[in-house]
Amino acid sequence: MTLDLSDFHWTMQLVDTLDAGLIVIDRDYQVCAWNSFMQNYSGVNADKIMGQNLFEHYPNLPVKWLKAKIASTEILKTRGFSNWEDRPVIFEFQNFSPVSQGLENMYQNMVITPLKSPRGEVTHFAIMLQDVSDVAKSKMFLKRSNAKLAEIGRTDGLTGLYNRTHWERCLIDVYQECKTKGQVATLVMFDIDHFKSVNDNFGHAFGDEVIRAAAEQLIHTARGDDVCGRYGGEEFAVLLKETTAEQAFYFSERLRKRIEQSVVMCSEHEASYTISLGVCQFDSDYSSHIDWLKRADKALYQSKMAGRNQTSVVKTC
Ligand code: GH3
Ligand code: MG
Ligand code: MG
Repeated sequence: MTLDLSDFHWTMQLVDTLDAGLIVIDRDYQVCAWNSFMQNYSGVNADKIMGQNLFEHYPNLPVKWLKAKIASTEILKTRGFSNWEDRPVIFEFQNFSPVSQGLENMYQNMVITPLKSPRGEVTHFAIMLQDVSDVAKSKMFLKRSNAKLAEIGRTDGLTGLYNRTHWERCLIDVYQECKTKGQVATLVMFDIDHFKSVNDNFGHAFGDEVIRAAAEQLIHTARGDDVCGRYGGEEFAVLLKETTAEQAFYFSERLRKRIEQSVVMCSEHEASYTISLGVCQFDSDYSSHIDWLKRADKALYQSKMAGRNQTSVVKTC
């Protein structure tokens, strides 16, 4: 067989026109090929790194991880892959793409191919690096947008609390946990007193401001894992996990007094308002979460009937 030098020359030109990084190293990690892509992005010329140990002459590589990847391709005699979603950056190249602005480094996929001698022994490794910054940025943007959309879908626009649909989903989850694991939880429902007259006297916009203010007081009174929702127009619901009716009563009274002492201001108007509350602890005799809701609502109704601005606790059955 004759070695045609022009074939070799063409091959080298092809390697240099690749829009991907190509490095060939031997079993001692000595660099045998370093294409134009690698030169352009790393700023290291081929003549400076050829024949040198890759790990000794290239900064900030994930040495242990990359050596393990190379070793496994040698053992398995198959290609090894790295996806940007697992490790975004292997070679710290600056990102120049206008589409993927915002990513400081170029995000990369990598393929390591073990290269065999005619006798079948792995003597070298080809490391191919692909710039996937644009795809990565779009995918991350999409992920963030989806998360934001999901958040909007769970949230009540006026108050920022959970909306009724999502809050009810949480109620079902907590109900199931109480039912199957014997956990304690208490439900608090509350409703703004004489809200219709707030709207009638000061207008709908002021009414909205009162609803928003009530939600804010609720947020300040609740703990991190309390599940707060806007159940309807001026009606709210709170799920207090690992809380007895007695503890929930104190929570409710704290919220009620806080609201009673507050004033709402909107343009030239200023008004105070009160709420009525119903408290109901989970009971294993309930046949569904609706049962639980109905009893809390009944307790709230009792507070209304007894003169408003108070908390009633449902008697367990
Ligand atoms: P009670 O003390 O018995 O609760 O009397 P109430 O006047 O608060 O109760 P009622 O259910 O009669 O009135 C609630 C009113 O709330 C009627 C409705 O127009 C108003 N409302 C419902 N949703 C909103 C809202 O998002 N913004 C405003 N401003 N008003 C609302
Ligand atoms: Mg009301
Ligand atoms: Mg109401």
